Amino acid sequence: MNRQTSDFYYEEAQSVIVGGVNSPSRAYKGVGGGTPVFMEKGAGAYLYDVDGNRYIDYLAAYGPIITGHAHPTITKAIQQQASNGILFGTPTRLENEFAKQLTTAIPSLEKVRFVNSGTEAVMTTIRVARAYTGREKIIKFAGCYHGHTDLVLVAAGSGPSTLGTPDSAGVTKATAAEVITVPFNNIAAFEEALSHWGNETAAVLVEPIVGNFGIVEPEPQFLEKVNELAHAAGALVIYDEVITAFRFMYGGAQDLLQVKPDMTALGKIIGGGLPIGAYGGRMDIMEQVAPLGPAYQAGTMAGNPASMSAGLACLQVLRENGVYEQLDQLGALLEQGLHQAAKEAGVPMTINRLKGALTVFFTDEKIRDYEGASRTNGDQFSVFFKEMLTRGIHLAPSKYEAWFLTIAHTKAHIDKTITAAQHAFRCVAEQF
Ligand code: PMP
Repeated sequence: MNRQTSDFYYEEAQSVIVGGVNSPSRAYKGVGGGTPVFMEKGAGAYLYDVDGNRYIDYLAAYGPIITGHAHPTITKAIQQQASNGILFGTPTRLENEFAKQLTTAIPSLEKVRFVNSGTEAVMTTIRVARAYTGREKIIKFAGCYHGHTDLVLVAAGSGPSTLGTPDSAGVTKATAAEVITVPFNNIAAFEEALSHWGNETAAVLVEPIVGNFGIVEPEPQFLEKVNELAHAAGALVIYDEVITAFRFMYGGAQDLLQVKPDMTALGKIIGGGLPIGAYGGRMDIMEQVAPLGPAYQAGTMAGNPASMSAGLACLQVLRENGVYEQLDQLGALLEQGLHQAAKEAGVPMTINRLKGALTVFFTDEKIRDYEGASRTNGDQFSVFFKEMLTRGIHLAPSKYEAWFLTIAHTKAHIDKTITAAQHAFRCVAEQF
């Protein structure tokens, strides 16, 4: 496969854009480097690069593109809105309509606010939780990603009862000291953290189904226990559903699992591919937000008509009958095929799948937390990723990411993917 034009543009990009990319994971560091593919066009389940190569896409832009690329309903909604103006800086009817749909789909959202990214959504839930509780500390779970504000770029300390350490240059030690990070699916560690910091904790922040060290589901009663213990300590519970909302069912992971947070952060899918974030929760908590309350949050682009239109169109598509069943069925086919292919090649592999999202881990181990995901074989994944890319299968360039199916994927795409995976697993087996 010739990718010379991508090489050219990557060279050019590096002369004007720091690192050549606008988000670090795009630079293929997670797969040992290489030239990222410069994409030119998306259509349904396919992406086309600047050299004219075609790929079956499982990145789905890290989640938002659940309808497939350039879905006609979304495209039309954006075109129509563009011809009517895309930004007014005033309230619009679209915002009301979208807020009604979100609060209906996710009942714990008694009130919502639109922002422009998942990062902003999570950032604001934390501010509001602090305003509501009058407390400052935050507990989060190792390996969960919550955007790139200082407060959530904090890694675990050296034990469950220690404060965090900065995970990025530029994050102050004082900020890191406001965050405690504990392992996911480990109630004992969470309890220990609460025993030290419970009465100072404003909120516990969690991805209810993890999407950021692979797809990892909470073990039975984990989220219920988190709720119970957090509330007993007087802390709020915030679900980061930036990846999960509308991914596994119409609504949130919270509906799928029948657990209820105090606040929720949303993003990705709800924008239909345009920039968006939203947050919401209990009425008495949301009343902290300006102009009603003392917690400030604003945005020039917040609730902009273009994102609202695309988001409404996306939800309309997702309400069609059978969408989530189809994603689940294709996901099951893909999982079976990948398992079989890895087995035939003699490559140890574990798949975590939930409906139309899965992660292939190069290990025999069951993966239930970030430590386990970190121990999986990244070198094997890198070989697999590159072999798949060369065979026209576009995956996320990191062993920690999910493969996302879209409603544009068909059995024929899955079959092609499995054929490519048979070769790719054999290459892995030959090299290790
Ligand atoms: N929370 C989660 C769970 C995410 O996966 C992400 C992005 N990958 C974010 C927050 C941040 O969202 P954004 O990139 O839109 O700022």
